[in-house]
Amino acid sequence: MSVDVDGARQRIRGGRAGFDATAVLSSAGDLHRPFQRIAASFERSGLATTPQLTALRERTIDPAQIVLSWCNGESTPRDATMRLARSVAAVLGNAVLSRTAGALAEGFSFSLWKRPQCPCCGASPDLAVTTDTRRSLVCWRCDTMWRTDFRGCIGCGADLAPDLVRIPSPHLGYQGAICNACGRYLKERRGGPAQPLLVERMLTAGLDEAAQQRGLRT
Ligand SMILES: [Zn+2]
Ligand SMILES: [Zn+2]
Repeated sequence: MSVDVDGARQRIRGGRAGFDATAVLSSAGDLHRPFQRIAASFERSGLATTPQLTALRERTIDPAQIVLSWCNGESTPRDATMRLARSVAAVLGNAVLSRTAGALAEGFSFSLWKRPQCPCCGASPDLAVTTDTRRSLVCWRCDTMWRTDFRGCIGCGADLAPDLVRIPSPHLGYQGAICNACGRYLKERRGGPAQPLLVERMLTAGLDEAAQQRGLRT
């Protein structure tokens, strides 16, 4: 994993994403062992059953390829074992990218960054955390969090019904901001994430499913 931190920060100052996520993942070395470790933790934590894990281990898969397909936002595989592989790859890819992004962010301010895409990797946010006075966006891919002046839809700027509709899910502490004008959606939460982002995403996966069924995208 080789990212030139100074060069990346300079790109961000110039209004471009700090690094190319595909390049970072491609240079992350052999991913077989971390992939197997994360798969084992899925089993221990009850996210996957022992038969599911056995099926995964018996399959010949290339973790690097699955991580890249996660990174590029390709559609989720239908096959159950490959879908599990994709979930494991998501945790792995996110760990690599968030570590790289964390190195860029340490002691560095994103305050000059005005775009609704991630300053580190250029992906779209999937979460927004808000208070009365500020709103921050969170990258779905590398967990970078940055402040934004965008109040409404990050795709087209719509901020009022019927274009932008906010659907509360009080038991999750989230609301889904759905844009009927351009088809984007974002999960919004008041106050900072209550759990690590990985857990927040798992808890709110139902919101993603509902939105995707309606043909919406982040
Ligand atoms: Zn990012
Ligand atoms: Zn929109």
